[in-house]
Parts: sequence; structure tokens; C-alpha cells
Amino acid sequence: MDLTFNERELAFRDELRGWLADNKPEQRPAEADEDSGYQWRRDWQHKMYEAGWAAPAWPSEYGGRNATLTEQAIYFEELGRSRAPVMANTLGILLGGPTLMVWGTDDQKQRLLTPILSAEEIWCQGFSEPGAGSDLAAARTRAERRGETYVVNGQKVWSSFAHIADYCILVTLSDPDAPRYKGLTYLIVDMHAPGVEVRPLRQITGEAEFNEIFFNDVEVPVENRLGEENEGWQVAMTTLLHERATLGFALTAALDASVHRLVDLARERANGGERVRELVAQEWIELQALRFTNYRALGTYERTGAPGPEGSAIKLRWSEQNQRLTKLGRELLGPEGNLDDGWWHHQQLRSRGNTIEAGTSEVLRNIVAERVLGLPRSR
Ligand SMILES: Cc1cc2nc3c(=O)[nH]c(=O)nc-3n(C[C@H](O)[C@H](O)[C@H](O)COP(=O)(O)OP(=O)(O)OC[C@H]3O[C@@H](n4cnc5c(N)ncnc54)[C@H](O)[C@@H]3O)c2cc1C
Repeated sequence: MDLTFNERELAFRDELRGWLADNKPEQRPAEADEDSGYQWRRDWQHKMYEAGWAAPAWPSEYGGRNATLTEQAIYFEELGRSRAPVMANTLGILLGGPTLMVWGTDDQKQRLLTPILSAEEIWCQGFSEPGAGSDLAAARTRAERRGETYVVNGQKVWSSFAHIADYCILVTLSDPDAPRYKGLTYLIVDMHAPGVEVRPLRQITGEAEFNEIFFNDVEVPVENRLGEENEGWQVAMTTLLHERATLGFALTAALDASVHRLVDLARERANGGERVRELVAQEWIELQALRFTNYRALGTYERTGAPGPEGSAIKLRWSEQNQRLTKLGRELLGPEGNLDDGWWHHQQLRSRGNTIEAGTSEVLRNIVAERVLGLPRSR
């Protein structure tokens, strides 16, 4: 594909670059606790939304700018370049919204899309269960149809942001007798409905970013279903493809910011001996490889209209690089790492989950082997 930007794309980039230079806040105050930290990210997202920058690839009627895929790629690169803070409703913007746009009715889109973008309504993802993580088709959270309502009972786990969420995209089992993949139904659940209980789980970082969610006779109107009853698997696949593909650019942008931070750190500390220089340079090279793989995946997306399985390779390489990179940052600081603002320390601890969330490395390697390289199925 052609990697030079046309005039329209360059104008898009320059406008965004200018806006970020004028509006990007300083980094989150170090003393902010978890609640005020989320509110700070919510305010930042709202500001982006008001200027039309929260999700430029979304249709303008929902607050986007009808940006092309290439412009969306530029968008994420510029966010990374400027080290802009992460917005509050990442899962709504990257997963819930795009799935709604493919599967939602007009009413659902009218009602739900704009508040996702403005950060008025936060979304979470209720896919994983204690007995169903990599194997989503084994989901057992039960949705029983009673007239115009589904009655939901069961448990989800590791649901990021569920404790602050207003809606959850939920994969449920609606027909326990159906063959595998055929009995699932995809629901949008109001997290404030009676019977929804959220219990935060504290992570190694000390924060409680993810949660258990318990559903006890939760009534979900049929109009909150995405796609047909018992055909939730296809809807969930749309979410997962976006999780691994669109997210690729966002993740690479964050990595770009970290690599530059690492370069600054190596420079500042002047402990850039031969070995350190080699390691830092290698991280920069890996980042470029990831960027170009992203562009190659974008080419597939533009040709076919859907994200392809290459997204799995990007997520895999990103997660492993982020773990390596944050470890290196921490090592460059040495014992001082415990005395500074703790950014590298926190990033290193948080990166442990990167090779598990959004598909474990083992599962992603299987996908790359089977669907990108055409090797025989593992099972
Ligand atoms: C930080 C973080 C945030 C998360 N946020 C969310 C969220 O918002 N919503 C949500 O629904 N989930 C979320 N998850 C859960 C995540 O999606 C699951 O942890 C992940 O899918 C793995 O599932 P599991 O933990 O049940 O492990 P399992 O699927 O039980 O896997 C256990 C081990 O077996 C390996 N394995 C499993 N199947 C295969 C196979 N076929 N071939 C080879 N090896 C295999 C795995 O790689 C792993 O090492 C989050 C997880 C983390 C760490």
C-alpha cells in the first residue's frame, strides 16, 4: 500500500496536532486517587468529544468525523506522539460502539452511541467467566426468555471498568441444548438494573481496574439484544475482531509514547553504555515493525471492509514488547525507580496482564498459525 499521505490526510493530521498542542492536559496529578483519576479521564474524553476528536472514524451524526481508516491510523499515531492521556470509555469506543454500528437497530444506535463518545455512559465487557476465558463459547451465564424480557443469572469475571460502567456487553447462554456456538445471545445490560452486583478485584498494581459481576434475576428487555437470539457468537466475533484490530493502532500509539519516554530516560541518565544503547535501539526497531504491520493490516481492512486475523499478531507482539520495555525502563532507573513518580514501576506491573487480556499469547499464536499461515488446526 501507499504510505505517503495525501493532502486531505496531511490537513487532518495538522489540525489534530494543533488541537492537541493547545488542549492536551498535563499528565494526571500524581496525588489523584482512583475515583478522581477516572473523572479526570472522563473530563478529557468529553473535551475530545466536544471538539469532534473522541472517535473521528465514527459517523458525524454520532459525534465522529467520518474519518477514513488511514485517518484513523494517523489519529492514533498523533495521540501517541503527543502522549495524550487515555480516554475513560476505551471499551465503549473501541468495542461496544463499533459492534453496535454493525449489529444495532436504528433505535439502539440513536440512543446509545453518542453518550459512549461523550463519556456520559461508560461501557464494560462481560465476556469472561470463571469457566470460560479463552473458550468464550463455553459461557454459562444464563439468559432465559420470558416474553419480552431475558432473565439473566450467572457470573462474569475480569470485567475492566465494571465498577464505573453504565452498560455491559454481555455474552449469555440462551439455549443450553443447542450445539456449541449456536445457543449464545448477546445483550446490552444496564449495570444499574436490580440484581447486578459488582465486586472489584485488586490487581498487582494496587488498583481495582477489573471486577467480578454477579447477575441475580436481572431483567433485560429484548430490545437490548444485539443481533438475533442464539446468534450471539457472530456478534461477539465482531467485538473480538475489533478488540484485536482497531485496538492495534491504539496500543501501538501508547507503545510509541513509552519508547520515546525510554529514549529520554536513557539520555537523561547518561548511563547509555553500549548494551543499553543496543537494547533501546532494538525497542525502537520493534516499534517500527509493529507500525508497519499495522499499516499492512489496514490495507486488508480497506480491501475487505473487516479487520483481518493479522490483528492477533499485532496484539501478540505489542504485549510482549510492552513487558520487555517496561522492565528495561525500570532497570535503567535502578533503585531510584522506587523513589520517582513510580510510572515505570506501575507500567511494568500492569504489563503483566497484557499477555492475558484480549486473548492470551498462546491463543493468539494459534490464530496466527491457523488463520494467517494456514497451518493445520490445533484441535
Ligand atoms: C488486565 C485484564 C483485563 C481484562 N479485562 C477483561 C474484560 O474487560 N472483559 C472480559 O470479559 N475479560 C477480561 N479479561 C479476561 C481475559 O479475556 C481472560 O483472562 C483471557 O481470555 C484468558 O482466559 P482465562 O483467564 O479464563 O484463562 P484460560 O482460558 O483458562 O487459559 C489458561 C491458560 O491456558 C492457555 N490456553 C487456553 N486455551 C488454549 C488453547 N486452545 N491453546 C493453547 N493454550 C491455551 C492460556 O493461554 C492460558 O495460559 C481481562 C484480563 C486481564 C488480565
